[in-house]
Amino acid sequence: MDSNEVLQLFKKYDAFLQGHFLLTSGLHSPHYFQCARILQHPEPAERLGKSLAKKVSGYLDSKNIDAVLSPALGGLIIGHELGRALGCRAVFAERQDGRMRLRRFSLKAGERVVVVEDVVTTGGSLLETAAIAREAEANIMATCCLVDRSTREIPALAGLVSLAKVDAVAYDPAACPLCKQGTPLIKPGSRQVSKGSF
Ligand SMILES: [Zn+2]
Repeated sequence: MDSNEVLQLFKKYDAFLQGHFLLTSGLHSPHYFQCARILQHPEPAERLGKSLAKKVSGYLDSKNIDAVLSPALGGLIIGHELGRALGCRAVFAERQDGRMRLRRFSLKAGERVVVVEDVVTTGGSLLETAAIAREAEANIMATCCLVDRSTREIPALAGLVSLAKVDAVAYDPAACPLCKQGTPLIKPGSRQVSKGSF
């Protein structure tokens, strides 16, 4: 799957939303990629996992991977599908007291790990998750995501592999034109969204 096919899939499942969104990164944007809308369906979820595995494999010196690590909740399902496609276990990190940690799993020193996120904007969650693998002295073989919507270079994520690289504007809240217009801000996943039109 190339960028275009992935974006078509987002449109097909009504997962490319337009409005005024508060992204996980804290930035505001008129666009939001609601991966959960696609990933709720096992068939396209599996297909995305396979496609991402194929792409990531091109960057690996060996397909021998021990675990996929992703940040919950956003990265959980794609992490599972990527684990299925790579033939390894899938573990996820969760935020507890403001910090990402592995609450239910462990990684061992020397394990070969692929870190995956659904959507990358500033790379904050992905970097925090990668730090967990590093703390465990696991080897990070690759970092990847479904959608890379970063607007500036993220030096720490220089080798990020994405299934789709998209140009989607994001604003610092202080400079957000949608805030200036008084457009209500939507925090995806919150009550405000579920009460709305989607
Ligand atoms: Zn705004």
